[in-house]
Amino acid sequence: MYRIDALPAFSDNYIWLLQDTTTRRCAVVDPGDAQPVLDWLAAHPDWRLDDILVTHHHPDHVGGVTRLKDATGARVSGPAWENIPSRDVALDDGARIEVLGRDFVVHAVPGHTLGHIAYYQAEEGWLFSGDTLFAAGCGRLFEGTPQQMNASLQRLAALPDSTRVYCAHEYTLSNLHFARAAEPGNTAVAQRFEEVSAWRAAGRISLPSTIGLEKATNPFLRCGETSIKEKIDERDGARQRTDDEVFAALRGWKDQFKVT
Ligand code: ZN
Ligand code: FE
Repeated sequence: MYRIDALPAFSDNYIWLLQDTTTRRCAVVDPGDAQPVLDWLAAHPDWRLDDILVTHHHPDHVGGVTRLKDATGARVSGPAWENIPSRDVALDDGARIEVLGRDFVVHAVPGHTLGHIAYYQAEEGWLFSGDTLFAAGCGRLFEGTPQQMNASLQRLAALPDSTRVYCAHEYTLSNLHFARAAEPGNTAVAQRFEEVSAWRAAGRISLPSTIGLEKATNPFLRCGETSIKEKIDERDGARQRTDDEVFAALRGWKDQFKVT
């Protein structure tokens, strides 16, 4: 039996804690801070941390890796093309890695950073998407091009609708403010906005999402839709645009969008 919990870190990061309740072994994804994980392990002395999975090199994702590895002896896996502290296993596109008795497939998803990877477990339907696919949004383009990010997102969108999406930040509500502006006529977006507003007001986490829900409500997965294309026409002038160009315009708009 598996269980996945979010350990909050900093102001809006989540460190995902994957637990095998049969063997009492666990794994964490993107421990930007070691302390929340060490606190959990101290409160659960009969559990062992086997694996640390890293999606990309940003400090809020790797800051706790070395301290955690030194304290527990856990194996550190991360993207092959980025500088990851204390990395034991370098993962490239299509790599497979066994974690807690389950086979994970690595998807290279450049855009937010050039070496960013996502971890997918097909039988359980888990996707750890880091800062690439967020609930109702996507990561900023710090290193990659809009084309790269759009292709990365399309690749994740092709996973089964029931796949649960565990992303690394609680950005859902602010993303939905933007999604409403991008698609004022999308009733699924309006409904999700109400739902997530209520959850956040009650202090509840908005994750995980699912690929199906993201395809219905995440504007960055919907650049081929007429509604999004028309909105970009309205803002930037009507012309023929490829989906990559629509994505680039949408991402540029979001970069300077203020939640009011
Ligand atoms: Zn990042
Ligand atoms: Fe981040």
